[in-house]
Order: sequence, then structure tokens, then C-alpha cells
Amino acid sequence: MNITMPTLPYAVNALEPVISEQTINFHYGKHLQNYVNTLNTLVQGTEFEGKSVEDIVKTAPDGPIFNNAGQTLNHALYFLQLKAPVQGNEPTGKIAEALVRDFGSFENFKKEFAQAGATLFGSGWAWLSQDKDGKLVITKDSNAGNPLRQGNTPLLGSDVWEHAYYLDFQNRRVDHLAALWDIIDWNVVESRMK
Ligand code: MN
Repeated sequence: MNITMPTLPYAVNALEPVISEQTINFHYGKHLQNYVNTLNTLVQGTEFEGKSVEDIVKTAPDGPIFNNAGQTLNHALYFLQLKAPVQGNEPTGKIAEALVRDFGSFENFKKEFAQAGATLFGSGWAWLSQDKDGKLVITKDSNAGNPLRQGNTPLLGSDVWEHAYYLDFQNRRVDHLAALWDIIDWNVVESRMK
């Protein structure tokens, strides 16, 4: 078992009312734990045994090992970028400047990012990432996709699998995405920039 769960930097009820303790218990405690356990089982005896999750995501062919590595990495990025709700929560410093540079304004970035999540059909992820030239880009991936597959650096990920929001928002994905802005830890997002 060389691939481990990320440790949550907050209590399981700390994200309420945006994300409930019940959702954390299922999403982190059951869904993510299952991806980690499955990945550890699948890599045994393969060329991926002993490799980092990032290396597996970058190099594994499409299939079960990639799917479980992608979801392990995606959820580590997701859970570690969150914090207790702050009204009027906004980025500052280097990340704020880069968002204005590449999207015109923070408000416009939020609009485009929410649009990416809202229009992704089925299960997947909306991403803010940094391309090889340092420019910030918004992309979306189905299922377990991650910007590392395209050579980009993931900064902020939005999980639009229904298990991320159904207990709290039922079918209202757009409302869930709008509420998320209060719990983004922009210091963590900035720390992922190159
Ligand atoms: Mn998820």
C-alpha cells in the first residue's frame, strides 16, 4: 500500500454548509478510499508498482490503472484546495494577478470556470491549470481526466461527478458550483503555480 490517502487539513464538518459532513464522509471516506485501495491492488506486479500517482497519471494507458490513479490524484487536489467558508472569499497576490491577466477579471474567470463545470455532460472535472508557457487555461475532462495528460499543471479542480454534490444539492450542479467559491483556499491554488 504505497499510495496513501491525503490528510484533510480541516474537520469533516468544517466546509458546511457548502459541503456537508455527510458528503465528506462518503466522498472522501468511501469514494476516494475506494480509488486508493483499487489503485494499490491494480498496480501490484505491474510496471507502475512503486511509482508516484503523478507519474502513473502521466504515463498509464487509458484503462483501470489510469482511471483509479486519475481519481486518486484529482481528489487529492480537490480536497486539499478547500477551507472553511469565508464570505467574499477572493484570491490575492500572484494568482489573482494571473487570473486578471488571462481572463480579464476574477468575475469573468468565475463565470467561465462555472460554465465549464455546468456544461460538462455526465461525470468529470473542470480545471484551472497552467500551460507550458505559464498561461492560465480552463479545460474540462470526462471521468478521471487530469490536465497532466496534456502537459499542463493543474491548479484548481472542480468535481462534477454527482457524488460530489448530490446529498447537498441533489440535481442542482450550478448551485453547488456557485457555492464552492466561498471555500476555495487560494493560497493552496497559488502554491501549485510554477
Ligand atoms: Mn469525486
